[in-house]
Amino acid sequence: MANQIPLVDYLVLGDRPRLVAHECTSCGARFFDRRNACASCGLTEFTTVDVPTEGEVRAFTIVAFAAPGIPTPFVAAVVDCGGTSVRANLINVPPDPEHVRLAMPVRLATQVVGTDEEGTEAIGFGFEPKEG
Ligand SMILES: [Zn+2]
Repeated sequence: MANQIPLVDYLVLGDRPRLVAHECTSCGARFFDRRNACASCGLTEFTTVDVPTEGEVRAFTIVAFAAPGIPTPFVAAVVDCGGTSVRANLINVPPDPEHVRLAMPVRLATQVVGTDEEGTEAIGFGFEPKEG
């Protein structure tokens, strides 16, 4: 099996890929990037929490124009995962308003976004429609 590395450090790979967030121990605000202090309350204690892998689409935009080399159209979305907002693209779904709608149930999905010369795969994530 190819060696795999996550594209972002808050994506945890393995049998059960998931996102992890830094949660402020004082006010409960969650951040995906590393912070020295909470943007909500200014305190500096964080704990690491797993973010639910299923959620629903809270907002989305169908992006028709992007930087050269980025295939378009694609769907940029904000997904509410059990109260944690996650910015991600929707994948494995046609990028049009007939297939993407607000409050659509989705789940975390990973995809290979690149391979280096040693065969190490970079793994990114998005959300795909949840069947059923
Ligand atoms: Zn806080």
